[in-house]
Amino acid sequence: MSGQALAPSARHIAARAFEGYLRAGDTAVDATLGRGRDCARLCELVGETGRVFGFDVQPQALVETRALLAQRGLLPRAGLFLMGHERMAEVVPPGVRLAAFNLGWLPGHDKRLTTRTDTTLQAVEAALALLAPGGALVVCCYPGHPEGKREQDAVEAFARGLPPSLYLALFHRFVNGGPGAPSCLVVERLAPAV
Ligand code: SAH
Repeated sequence: MSGQALAPSARHIAARAFEGYLRAGDTAVDATLGRGRDCARLCELVGETGRVFGFDVQPQALVETRALLAQRGLLPRAGLFLMGHERMAEVVPPGVRLAAFNLGWLPGHDKRLTTRTDTTLQAVEAALALLAPGGALVVCCYPGHPEGKREQDAVEAFARGLPPSLYLALFHRFVNGGPGAPSCLVVERLAPAV
């Protein structure tokens, strides 16, 4: 896809959502740390007074994330947990402005350590319950492999069932990008009208 486009990939759409929703002082969640690049971006956006809670089940992901954050002076803003994201409510307080999920496995690592539909759904529901009014969930899906397709279908079905009076659910899919093209779901918890 063209590098000239405003948001040529699911990851670009996610990155733009991070910028759109987050302000200094906010609380954010990175549900899939991987190499830590999203976590570092979230830490930059929430500023010195903000907080980012990060999760991964691979010790190596925490090692890499911690190193990246330390190198950029962002470590004091983050709490990193070697723990499944489906358990995030045990450590994350309500009032989350943005929760980011980048599903699948870490390129170059063990493909058996992919996110899985059942725990992903539990985590998406947990994150939604923690959102502040006006906050959002951002989920990048990779339907190019069978479990990734199941995950995408499951999160899309979940989002489709959300009451429109409470949530805005937008599913970004590149319809001419082939069946395996990564997609990005954004769910915003609507703030009550004043
Ligand atoms: N597909 C993406 C990278 C995804 S990384 C890309 O191409 O860029 C997904 C991360 O989720 C991995 O680091 C993996 O260890 C982690 N993960 C898998 N199951 C998890 C769970 N239950 N809770 C938290 N992280 C999990």
